[in-house]
Amino acid sequence: MDKCSFCGRTKKEANLLVAGLEGHICDHCIEQAYSIMNEELGSKKNISFDTINLLKPAEIKNFLDQYVIGQDMAKKIISVAVYNHYKRLMQKSDGDDIEIEKSNIILVGETGTGKTLLARTVAKMLHVPFTIVDATVLTEAGYVGEDIESLLTRLLQNADYDVKAAEKGIVFIDEIDKIARKGDNPSITRDVSGEGVQQGLLKLLEGSIVNVPPQGGRKHPEQKMIPVDTKNVLFICGGAFEGIEKKIAQRMNTQIVGYGAAKIREKVDKDNLLKYIAPQDLRAYGLIPEIIGRLPVVTHLDPLDRKALRAILTEPKNALVKQYIKLFKMDNIELTFDEGVLEFIVDKAIEFKLGARGLRSICESIMLDAMFEMPSLGKDELMITIDYAAHKLEHIDMQVLKAS
Ligand code: ADP
Repeated sequence: MDKCSFCGRTKKEANLLVAGLEGHICDHCIEQAYSIMNEELGSKKNISFDTINLLKPAEIKNFLDQYVIGQDMAKKIISVAVYNHYKRLMQKSDGDDIEIEKSNIILVGETGTGKTLLARTVAKMLHVPFTIVDATVLTEAGYVGEDIESLLTRLLQNADYDVKAAEKGIVFIDEIDKIARKGDNPSITRDVSGEGVQQGLLKLLEGSIVNVPPQGGRKHPEQKMIPVDTKNVLFICGGAFEGIEKKIAQRMNTQIVGYGAAKIREKVDKDNLLKYIAPQDLRAYGLIPEIIGRLPVVTHLDPLDRKALRAILTEPKNALVKQYIKLFKMDNIELTFDEGVLEFIVDKAIEFKLGARGLRSICESIMLDAMFEMPSLGKDELMITIDYAAHKLEHIDMQVLKAS
């Protein structure tokens, strides 16, 4: 008599019996097998702690060193914060009541000094979902702009709607300084994009269950919300905090008094006051104390000097120059840069105050014609000389590059 080869149910006992080459399977077993399969594949899809590629702090820093030039202090602080954050995720409650708190990070530094790059590189290392959002587009619910929750929509999308994975992801909030309270008295005008947004953000930073619109925005009112717990999401905020040096100087002036003050003042690096940044300065700048409390790791990025800009061109693992060489190599063309060309590019970036971002636009302007013509010319080498580079830049409006 035909019966299920897995559970032994007979044709009578089962609703359905599917015949195979050498046996049968009943509807019960098909269902069970299906749910086992889903469970297995589902848990594999989720980013489990085993697949988070967690290195020791020194190793994390080494990894960051491969992609980000300089910024040693920020790298060190981030390495420790990320390590602790993931240790916190892995902690088992062992009854000692010691709960490791979340270590969200705030990075303060001029634009184009590597804040986003650092956050992105950390996410790359950990293999966790990552998203970048601009704080300036966020507004309080009910106003024009994006709701705060939309920031998690992007994270969900980047995690392929795998909620469990998203809940262990990293969110980089750029331009956090732009939502600082404008004046000291918040009640004078309605501060739609300032304090209200900070309050909204607070909820996410603290860790709460947020109903996230999977498609984002308010264009799809019918969509079903997905609850996402932000308890374990690591938030890294970045901002230029233009003018914060004044607040730092004020604080330091009032702090350093009394005997020996003059000597200490002498030692202060007045050209880079950012390195003395402290939470009080962020408060003076207009972040509400609750937000600052939820961003316990404060660190700064140094302005990039000529040496750093020069290094950025060639040293990182995916340095610009390496990328161009690779692009040409794919057409069997050996690309070389004459001595001094790289210095020349750095000079231009400094001259027009374009910073690290400008390096790319300058290189693109120099290389465009070559990238256009060379593949059809059948030559197997190309050397970029200073004259060639200068000629290509002659007609370029550097102000345009700045905007790009
Ligand atoms: P920020 O977020 O501070 O405004 P980004 O991280 O977006 O700046 O930097 C812009 C680009 O400039 C990066 O994609 C990278 O190519 C380059 N860059 C900036 N800082 C560094 C750095 N310290 N090391 C290597 N590249 C950098």
